[in-house]
Amino acid sequence: MKTSDIFKHKTVFSLEIFPPKPDAKESVIYDTLDGLSDICPDFISVTYGAGGAKNSQRTIKIASDIKSRYGVESVAHLPCIGLTREQAKNILDDMKAQGIENVLALRGDIPADEVPCGGFEHASDLITFIKENYDMNILAACYPEVHPESRSPIDDIRWLRHKVSCGADHLITQLFLDNRSFYSFREKAAIAGMENVPIEAGIMPVTNKRQIERMVKLCGIELPGRFIRVLEKFGHDPIALRDAGIAYAIDQITDLLAEGADGIHLYTMNDAQVAQRIYEAVHSLIPAHSLVS
Ligand code: FAD
Repeated sequence: MKTSDIFKHKTVFSLEIFPPKPDAKESVIYDTLDGLSDICPDFISVTYGAGGAKNSQRTIKIASDIKSRYGVESVAHLPCIGLTREQAKNILDDMKAQGIENVLALRGDIPADEVPCGGFEHASDLITFIKENYDMNILAACYPEVHPESRSPIDDIRWLRHKVSCGADHLITQLFLDNRSFYSFREKAAIAGMENVPIEAGIMPVTNKRQIERMVKLCGIELPGRFIRVLEKFGHDPIALRDAGIAYAIDQITDLLAEGADGIHLYTMNDAQVAQRIYEAVHSLIPAHSLVS
């Protein structure tokens, strides 16, 4: 099933997982998926290491198993930076052969030491390539707090609209901790003519201090005052911070659902217990027919 069709019937609740590291046993991901199976998500997406990282082959197998073993729709991520067209074709052929219908087309982060050469410069190039050669549903990334490389918020929206015009059917946001940035972004996207493209809000429960430092460095996201106060109060106590991070995510999701978000994409960080606790708290709030009623 194409993920973009699910929005026609309901508000979407989806999950993201990442494949185990190359030196870890593949079976650990199936323990995570067993733990996530009670949630009944609308789909699960599987990340893919940019630049052909060693564990990238695992993405396709896991995405395929999510469908065949768990009966849940899946999305395989595909960052194009450093890939030749031939390599992208081989990966996409493999996805098709393994029954994957949904691909999250990305550029990937440019490594600090070198700009890899390949057949694609931006995610939009990959989206065009997929659209021209495959009958797949295409997802793309978007950034409520603006992509760190963008010259301006207007430029960012302009390039997002370009991705949509190239063929992106469904958007998922970068994580954010202040819902106001999502509402303002959603409005700008609608003004720019993207009101018919579903936008899922990406929510990451922040459950440890190292994770927060990494996120700020990597994604340049804003830490709102309310979040900083949580950190100051509970940051020294790992159990309290985990509980506070879960409570914060539940609060964000509750507000997003009340404001009619098209969907929630939970970055699980492969922690099934955290995902379950969040789902238990919000599942009765997810309307069954929000977009068609
Ligand atoms: P692009 O859409 O190419 O945008 C990158 C920058 O270029 C932006 O500033 C944009 O405004 C600008 N731009 C876009 N198109 C053009 C154009 N045609 N001309 C000029 N400028 C342009 N990374 C991974 O490696 N693996 C993953 O699995 C992964 N999953 C992700 C999932 C989600 C939901 C998100 C939000 C991000 C994910 N990322 C992943 C990170 C992503 O690869 C990085 O954020 C990367 O820096 C940008 O990717 P993009 O697809 O948004 O790039």
